Amino acid sequence: MLRAGAAVATGLALRPHLAAAQEAESGFDADVGLDPGHSRVDVGASGDGVGEFQHTLDVTLRIKPLLEAAGVRVNLSRADHAPLSEMSHRDPTERTRIEQEARIAAVGRARVYVSVHFNALGDRRVGGTETYYNADNFGAESWRLAGALQDGVVAAIRAYGYATPDRGVKEDLRAGKPYGHFFSLRGGMPSALVEGLFLSNPTEAALLTDDGVREAIARGYVGGILEYFAASGLPLETP
Ligand SMILES: [Zn+2]
Repeated sequence: MLRAGAAVATGLALRPHLAAAQEAESGFDADVGLDPGHSRVDVGASGDGVGEFQHTLDVTLRIKPLLEAAGVRVNLSRADHAPLSEMSHRDPTERTRIEQEARIAAVGRARVYVSVHFNALGDRRVGGTETYYNADNFGAESWRLAGALQDGVVAAIRAYGYATPDRGVKEDLRAGKPYGHFFSLRGGMPSALVEGLFLSNPTEAALLTDDGVREAIARGYVGGILEYFAASGLPLETP
């Protein structure tokens, strides 16, 4: 829950019927830009017959109503399986950059940007949950957002009954991407990218076919995001 009292004390309380006016005043189009990673063209990882792009949209569409019920305004980068760009550039890095820039633009001006992903590695034994941030983009805020999300998602998966290994919060440059920072973490706002579980791990891929674990992961994102805003004293108030 958000601390309404703290928000009132700062004179920034936001009641639902005032939300639109106050958001206009603040210059933000949304509190959270939510990005379901990949698309039917760039499917990402896959496991147990399901593509990462399907799981990410499923989880995103579970997160959105939960956040909205808590008074958080959400804009999605995509709401179906189509990419936002042509995805036709012959250079894959350029193709990724163009698509991710389109997604960041699609959410408008948001207080934070959260990208929903699942992981994969060649070693199928590796499993767990990890979250990335870009130290060069609102570094301290992004790190705090990433930490809140990592804690929220790990706790929710564990509460559901799977003892996911906590792989921690990581700087994206250390992920060894040839093009540097993740393109999805370069928008002009605090940003984090959560890799919920590993689709390359047979146990975790099977687990993800269970609606209950995807719902738990969604609740984990919501807990993390609400925790981040509460700690920020941002002008949100539960309806
Ligand atoms: Zn991904």
